[in-house]
Amino acid sequence: MEKTFAIIKPNAFADGNSGKILSRIYEEGFTVVGLKKLYLSQVEAEGFYYVHKDRPFFGELTEFMSSGPCIVMVLEAENAILKWRDLMGATNPAEAAEGTLRREFGASLGENATHGSDAPETASFEIGYFFSGLELL
Ligand code: ADP
Ligand code: MG
Repeated sequence: MEKTFAIIKPNAFADGNSGKILSRIYEEGFTVVGLKKLYLSQVEAEGFYYVHKDRPFFGELTEFMSSGPCIVMVLEAENAILKWRDLMGATNPAEAAEGTLRREFGASLGENATHGSDAPETASFEIGYFFSGLELL
């Protein structure tokens, strides 16, 4: 079993799509190991996305991620990292396949509804950024 880190981003939360996204998560066979609602500050969003700090969209991204509440989660499944990225679809909702979460709930490249870790090392950092061991029992 593998764990990955996921976010229901502020646009999806504000649009009232958290329930639908959680339904898909359960239907696809993930176990929700951790879950909480947070309203990130920009500094907290910057710490989370530090790998992108030199990218031109860093300001836009961290401003958006701190623009309203989101839901952070730890999901468990076999090959959870790849499985969750497949369910999310491509980064740009316009290029995401039919039936994926970003296609269905994403508004734009920036406001693309969900986040998912891209590798075991990033999953480990991202889970630890938001959850303590006691919250994942
Ligand atoms: P992913 O979330 O699919 O792993 P990246 O790690 O490349 O994608 O980017 C992180 C997030 O930054 C994306 O989910 C998206 O919200 C935002 N983003 C990426 N590229 C751009 C861009 N060119 N303009 C605005 N926002 C972007
Ligand atoms: Mg990424």
